[in-house]
Amino acid sequence: MVLPVCDVCLKSGMLCQGCENKLKSGEITQMDLDIAKLLYKLGEGKIGFKKTIEIGDTVIIVTDKEQVGKLIGKSGKIVREISRSIEKKVRVVGENSDLRSVARDILAPARLSGINIVYGKEGQKKYKIRVMAEDSRRIPGRLDFLNSIIKELTSEDTLVVVDK
Ligand SMILES: [Zn+2]
Repeated sequence: MVLPVCDVCLKSGMLCQGCENKLKSGEITQMDLDIAKLLYKLGEGKIGFKKTIEIGDTVIIVTDKEQVGKLIGKSGKIVREISRSIEKKVRVVGENSDLRSVARDILAPARLSGINIVYGKEGQKKYKIRVMAEDSRRIPGRLDFLNSIIKELTSEDTLVVVDK
């Protein structure tokens, strides 16, 4: 289990010099700290994450691929708790995931029907990510916003569309 803050700090609720320095230098953020504390409690010390990314009213928690399910919790229980505490939307994504996995995690619970490459007028490459028509109401946010999150995580330009 890896958290961006050390065990001593999580147990005491105060920051040791090492973690204090990380916070001051920007290596970790206040959001990392808040979520580390929450997860330490909720996950009984068994759930970790690498970092958080804040975009608008959404926080993306990046964690080991194998930990994504645990961090989401049964029927989304843990994510819901975190979301309630920090009063932001929360999405969980596996570290170093490929575009397909990132898109799946970001767009859940809406399901993907496929991804294909399209080219713009100037020949720029984009990935068209298609969501199943019957899941159109389960898409967790505005499409341009979701595209920007996927870009932040994968550096790829995407175009999320709903199947007709
Ligand atoms: Zn510490």
